[in-house]
Amino acid sequence: MTSEVDTDLLVIGAGACGLAAAVAAHDAGISVAVVEKLARPGGNSSLSTGSVPGAGSRFQREAGIEDSPERLVTDLLATAGPHDADALTRRMAEESAPLVEWLIDELGARMELVTAYKHVGHSVPRLHAPRSRRGQDLVDDLLGFVSDRGIPLAVGNPVDRLLMEDGAVRGAVIAGEPVRAAKVLLATNGFAANRSMVARWCPEIAPAEYFGALGSTGEAAAWGEAIGAALGNMGAYQGYAAVAYPQGSLLSWTTIEKGGILVSASGRRFGNEDAGYSGFAPTVMGQGETAYAVYDRRIHDIAAGEEEYVELAEMGGVRWADTPQGLADHMAVDGAALAETVDAYNGAARGGRSDAFGRRRFELAPLQAPFAIVRVKPGLFHTQGGLMVDDHARVLRPDGSVVANLFAGGGAAAGISGLSGAGGYASGNGLLTALALGRIAGLCAADELSG
Ligand SMILES: Cc1cc2nc3c(=O)[nH]c(=O)nc-3n(C[C@H](O)[C@H](O)[C@H](O)COP(=O)(O)OP(=O)(O)OC[C@H]3O[C@@H](n4cnc5c(N)ncnc54)[C@H](O)[C@@H]3O)c2cc1C
Repeated sequence: MTSEVDTDLLVIGAGACGLAAAVAAHDAGISVAVVEKLARPGGNSSLSTGSVPGAGSRFQREAGIEDSPERLVTDLLATAGPHDADALTRRMAEESAPLVEWLIDELGARMELVTAYKHVGHSVPRLHAPRSRRGQDLVDDLLGFVSDRGIPLAVGNPVDRLLMEDGAVRGAVIAGEPVRAAKVLLATNGFAANRSMVARWCPEIAPAEYFGALGSTGEAAAWGEAIGAALGNMGAYQGYAAVAYPQGSLLSWTTIEKGGILVSASGRRFGNEDAGYSGFAPTVMGQGETAYAVYDRRIHDIAAGEEEYVELAEMGGVRWADTPQGLADHMAVDGAALAETVDAYNGAARGGRSDAFGRRRFELAPLQAPFAIVRVKPGLFHTQGGLMVDDHARVLRPDGSVVANLFAGGGAAAGISGLSGAGGYASGNGLLTALALGRIAGLCAADELSG
């Protein structure tokens, strides 16, 4: 560190991106400090299920799963379609297996390969997650690594703006005080908690409830726009089609993927659930205020492998009946219509043909007694648009030149989930770009500073 700066790398935001960057930069030999505006670190990363793809990881090899970065690129682009950050998709795919091996083998994160099911948008099991399936455990591990290294982390310290000199970033103003830094990483996530930015960039999901952390108020995009940085994929976001209501916890998508359906209050289906938990969210929003997930005991038993689902069941969020009509005693749905709906769906599943909505994946369906029902609402989880970055997480201008000394990662950067809408999001896209770009930014900052 030179005497002209307070720290080599200033990390703004203490979620997965910022914490991974801090550890990587420290271990590469530079000084680093993390500032977090809220009283608690963790951001959206704490609320997530902590699932991160690692294509071709040693854990997959040991489980006999054949995978590769090329296969992940193919899967991600098939879901996302062409977008502003195509090149980043390849970089993220290549980084994914080294990332999970770094987290688990080198740092000691308590994560494992999830083999029980393939996540939305992935053709093989490749997501690695905390054993509890809670992002809080991943954040706690990262906070432990930060604290073991003596990296300063100041909570309750909002960054007001970047310090700029001659077009280069020189630090930031934190709670009114300038802090000089050789490099700055924007790890502040996206703008889903900022209603006016959501209305500007993602108007279709603006009426939905936001289920993420309060800190995602869009400073990175706003500061970037003000200094002439390029923004990309601003209309893309992760939605969730089935947040249990009124409990507010996620109804595991396993319940739908393994053969469950979503119906309206009139007991009718309204779309093809194969679109996935994110892609199906706008459809759920379009059909009415709430919807109902219907599945059976066998599917419940599989979902019961997830702590959050068990808690939902314990809170009384899952109701049971021996017939579809019987489910109407628990919820305000039309029981007779629901019985017809389940019959028609079971018929399609039995025949192995796509149903009236084009659904092809039936897994354990036909559904059989006893039947379960959960009341759900769609929600907005996070936005996927942000600052365009290069392969080293450096922030770019529209002409492709680099904004000197400025990095961005995670929700602050343009993501890999398509140009707009909820359909381009594949499971793990949020944490992959958070952790991988954070790590890359930390390493690149160290590299540049050591000449
Ligand atoms: C319920 C839910 C489940 C999810 N599940 C998954 C999943 O399993 N896998 C996956 O890949 N993604 C998942 N996601 C998305 C994922 O959580 C995010 O994409 C990811 O956590 C983003 O990480 P981040 O580090 O960029 O942001 P965050 O973790 O949100 O961290 C950003 C931090 O920056 C702070 N900050 C913001 N502005 C300032 C400022 N001006 N000054 C100082 N600090 C600031 C914030 O307070 C916050 O603590 C899920 C999201 C939700 C809501």
